[in-house]
Amino acid sequence: MKIKKAIVAIVASLGMAAAFAGCVNDTTANPGGGTDPSAGGGGKVTIGIKFDQPGLGLKVGEDYTGFDVEVARYVAKELGYTDIEFKQSPSAQRETLLQSGQVDMIFATYSITDDRKQKISFAGPYFIAGQGLLVRADNTDITGPETLNGKKLCSVTGSTPAEKIKKDYAQQVQLQELDTYSKCVEALNAGQVDAVTTDDVILAGFAAQEQYKGKLKTVGKPFTEERYGVGIKKGNVELCTKINTAVEKMISDGAWKKALADTVGDAFTPDETKNPPKPDACS
Ligand code: GLU
Repeated sequence: MKIKKAIVAIVASLGMAAAFAGCVNDTTANPGGGTDPSAGGGGKVTIGIKFDQPGLGLKVGEDYTGFDVEVARYVAKELGYTDIEFKQSPSAQRETLLQSGQVDMIFATYSITDDRKQKISFAGPYFIAGQGLLVRADNTDITGPETLNGKKLCSVTGSTPAEKIKKDYAQQVQLQELDTYSKCVEALNAGQVDAVTTDDVILAGFAAQEQYKGKLKTVGKPFTEERYGVGIKKGNVELCTKINTAVEKMISDGAWKKALADTVGDAFTPDETKNPPKPDACS
């Protein structure tokens, strides 16, 4: 009788411990709604992407498409997540979204820079692009950044291309900053600005969009190097290392190449001397 009681007590306490462990696991949920991303192992993760960049991060209805989205899906799966919530992450809001825990990771044409590394950390890079220019198809006088004298140029607040223009070309150019590239491209097509500047791969995606086909063109050679990283909370080396392992696997098993072909496709040919890149060491 005594033994039976003891067994019942042990079984009960084991059950309690298991239930408690489950409970602890659930309450590791961060403000972004996911479980601790460094823990992986199932559950939901909140990922920041762009919603308006064709070929990279695009939301149509409830469908999300683009190369960033495919890399995000691959990495999330490798980390053990079964459920992804995508959250729009405009350029100027990315660091804040990570710092406040509203998103766990960001895959959004997000260049790795020393300035941004003051506030957040990056895994990757998983792609290398370069800054370029988009103009109307009939334009003949804009051929590179040095030909922008007196022109109206649109870019996005909080982006590296807008910073580059302010730093190196501010005297000659009238820079107009909007919050998304799709708004800049609309303004270009409507004749309100003369050019749009951002990464070549982003511009090519817009130029290939049905509504702009034959109306817009990219010009000149890339004039910066934009290394796309995965934004994460500052100092999470464990998560960074796991993401890099996943990115390396995606490159070596052919999924990276396939994802790029399925999304960006013929719209843009990346620099093959730089792509696919090798992720940096995490620190
Ligand atoms: N890659 C650049 C950046 O991170 C431009 C693209 C963007 O704004 O997302 O700022």
